[in-house]
Amino acid sequence: MYNYLFGPVPSRRLGMSLGVDLVPKKVCSLDCVYCEVGKTTKLTIDRKEYIKVNKLKEELIHYFSNNPDPDYITFSGSGEPTLNIHMGEIIQFIKQNKPYIPIAILTNGTLFFDQNVRNAIKAADIVLPSLDAATENVFQKINRPAKGLTIDKYIQGLIDFRNEFTGEIWLEIFILPGYNDSDNELTAFKEAIVRIRPDSIQLNTLDRPGTISNLKGATKSELQKIADYWNLNYTKIIADAPKRKNILSYRDDIETAIIETISRRPCTLNDLTKILGLHINEINK
Ligand code: SF4
Repeated sequence: MYNYLFGPVPSRRLGMSLGVDLVPKKVCSLDCVYCEVGKTTKLTIDRKEYIKVNKLKEELIHYFSNNPDPDYITFSGSGEPTLNIHMGEIIQFIKQNKPYIPIAILTNGTLFFDQNVRNAIKAADIVLPSLDAATENVFQKINRPAKGLTIDKYIQGLIDFRNEFTGEIWLEIFILPGYNDSDNELTAFKEAIVRIRPDSIQLNTLDRPGTISNLKGATKSELQKIADYWNLNYTKIIADAPKRKNILSYRDDIETAIIETISRRPCTLNDLTKILGLHINEINK
């Protein structure tokens, strides 16, 4: 069993994706009300080593030698990956060993104000930052950020990154009805999006419990209304993950894959059915 790698799991956006986890549960610069991983226990913007980088490199070499290539290698997992000060070194290590596998980074993007962070991730192929608010009030309410972060600094960091990064930026906007779907917020979002100039907007919503119990997700038609209101032709409403059956990069050590997945985030029985391509009765066993 690996400590820092998980999956490959079918991602909604990236096919079969091998996850790399660069921080322990749960180190993050935000404490989002909808977070699937759970409450942030270390709320910080301090970049540190956080995990044993040499061990991670050993795990990657072992994985590459014993498994088919995944569609993507994705930095995500138990918290905010850009908080790991060795992230750039790990990206270079993967590129040296598997130059043809694209690297994706799922990040909250809050640390992009820091030139060192922008430099560390510039060799990635796709960066998927999130943005759940466009005004300070809503930012505080949904994302409950670490001290020192403001929405203006956050958005400016995304703009600066766009100006330097030549790969794709898919900006994820997570809609929480009652929190960030007022006319005022949607207008502010559009202004921010136009300044950030992402290649794609990924409109997403809640499909699992967050850290606050009364949250609900938006319906498909509510998301469509928001996309229509923005009228930006690069907006996508995210669909379900692909089924795992018949996918080459699928691992045969299912039990271990389940444990690695649920040790990072809660999954329903249905989620595991989709991830593993097995009947519910098999998962129950
Ligand atoms: S940024 Fe991601 S990991 Fe951090 S609290 Fe928000 S949803 Fe959870």
